[in-house]
Amino acid sequence: MSKKILILPGDGVGPEIVAEAEKVLAALRGDFGLDVATEHALIGGAATDAKGAPLPADTLALAREADAILMGAVGGPKWDDIERELRPERGLLAIRSALGLFANLRPAILYPQLASASALKPEVVAGLDIMIVRELTGGIYFGAPRGIEGEPGERRGYNTLVYSEPEVERIGRLAFDIAGKRDGRLTSVDKANVLEVSELWRETMTTLAEDYPGVELSHMYVDNAAMQLVRAPKQFDVVVTGNMFGDILSDCAAMLTGSIGMLPSASLDERAKGLYEPVHGSAPDIAGQGKANPLATILSLAMLLRYTLAEADLADRVQAAVGKVLDEGLRTPDIHTDGTRVAGTSEMGDAVVAALHAAA
Ligand code: NAD
Repeated sequence: MSKKILILPGDGVGPEIVAEAEKVLAALRGDFGLDVATEHALIGGAATDAKGAPLPADTLALAREADAILMGAVGGPKWDDIERELRPERGLLAIRSALGLFANLRPAILYPQLASASALKPEVVAGLDIMIVRELTGGIYFGAPRGIEGEPGERRGYNTLVYSEPEVERIGRLAFDIAGKRDGRLTSVDKANVLEVSELWRETMTTLAEDYPGVELSHMYVDNAAMQLVRAPKQFDVVVTGNMFGDILSDCAAMLTGSIGMLPSASLDERAKGLYEPVHGSAPDIAGQGKANPLATILSLAMLLRYTLAEADLADRVQAAVGKVLDEGLRTPDIHTDGTRVAGTSEMGDAVVAALHAAA
């Protein structure tokens, strides 16, 4: 039976970049017999405008039925001042929580062709390929009790950093599995020298390691991890960490690559159903101008092929096609440097399709 992919273009550059990923999907169907059925639905500001809610019930119903979801981005100045519940970003939070997407996968890959886009020296980052696995539905962002209390001038604000063994085990197993399919090295990041919750995290990861003899587990304190990420990032293969540490470290790792238009992400549930989207937002400053880089979305599709559809060969082909386009010197304005040629959103998508055809 065909796998179902729900496509949520969203706002701003979302529809432009998603259209390019759909060209790639069409090529995979035509050239490689990929058996998928797609549907489209509204999310974000576009959904608020048309249906009065950023995650309409019919979109959520389709999302629940789908095997995977490919999203563009949501948000924009048009919706910045409306009531909180109607804001585009609420749609994104709502779909993540409704689908129980507990694992956020953020690869930080720096194609060697783009090494000069990084703020770090090319030799430090060229060929970088890290996977950050962040726990997404627990930790301090969700822990109770939380609040602000007391008299003005004497108030206290507090949150709770809490993880249970099953929560750590769930994200840990996913990270071990991923490391097993890559270079076999997993770094668990915590603050076990100060926090009891991190002690439990570390113990749980260490126990889990016995089930994964092919993966080498190491532990690192989060402050050191931040330092090592900018000092010698290529030492990492897969990093697993909690919600808040992952939030910070994944942005740091993303910036090592210097090009937000290149970074995909996946959020997965326990059965590898996933929401796949570029890391960047809706880029309202360039929306409608044909300048947006579609590669992060196309690479998000590659993650969808790899993690939900288990089509690793097709995922590799899409990544290789992106590499070939970069080799040919084509660049959207965000990654343009001297000696390369500026291409628009659609030309870039067409070039990836051409590279796929050529390799078929
Ligand atoms: P942004 O990522 O949209 O843009 C930041 C900068 O990067 C801009 O200069 C933009 O032009 C550039 N950029 C982003 N994507 C690009 C691409 N594909 N190609 C070329 N350049 C690109 O972040 P922002 O400006 O802080 O936010 C804009 C809107 O997006 C806000 O409403 C924000 O809430 C929303 N947002 C949504 C998501 C999401 O949907 N997951 C994530 C972040 C921000």
